Amino acid sequence: MSDEADEIAERKMQFLFALRSKGVTDARVLTAMEKIDRGPFIRGYFSERAYEDMPLPIACGQTISQPSVVGLMTQALRVSNRDKVLEVGTGSGYQAAILSLLARRVYTVDRHKRLVQDATEIFNTLDLTNIIALTADGSFGLPDQAPFDRIIVTAAAEDPPGPLLAQLKIGGIMVVPVGQSDAVQRLIRVTRTESGFDYDELRPVRFVPLVEGLGRDG
Ligand code: SAH
Repeated sequence: MSDEADEIAERKMQFLFALRSKGVTDARVLTAMEKIDRGPFIRGYFSERAYEDMPLPIACGQTISQPSVVGLMTQALRVSNRDKVLEVGTGSGYQAAILSLLARRVYTVDRHKRLVQDATEIFNTLDLTNIIALTADGSFGLPDQAPFDRIIVTAAAEDPPGPLLAQLKIGGIMVVPVGQSDAVQRLIRVTRTESGFDYDELRPVRFVPLVEGLGRDG
């Protein structure tokens, strides 16, 4: 192998090792995260740090989540290849790209048009044809496409948003960080049952806030 190929293989091994050591153990999730290179989702100055297990700044004052948190949330979502998934908070598009390898179809929305445009470009380059990215206020979900088998919210809400609960199928699962935006939040898994909702508290997390309305660029 060339030096460069060696370096890429070594970097990938370390990346997967960090995921496993933080509790990402689901083989399908690890395989998807091995296939989707985080590099293209981070532009400019911070791109060198793409393979470190840390959140990084992206455009519009937002962040791409820490890979281990992406892995743990994806694992908690228990996605199958028959599922129609909604992601609220496209950001860089990294989480949606991983979901696209596990689900039938992924709808992802962000309040910033620019982020949706940049992410769509990457989805096209990677030929991820089952992702539909839209500019929208995701706190209202996506009524035209509802109901969903799975919903993942990658921005923190004070409570799980009512419209999202309403757009979850019976038996469906939603993963959402809940709490004040400037504090440590709790990652919650909500399962819709025949008669209501079950709530599991998973772990502390830190996300940018879910903000109402479209961004000024949207
Ligand atoms: N999942 C992303 C990281 C998301 S950061 C990734 O893989 O890179 C959180 C994102 O949520 C930001 O891009 C922010 O613009 C978006 N957001 C915040 N409030 C929103 C809302 N009401 N509707 C849609 N997107 C929202």
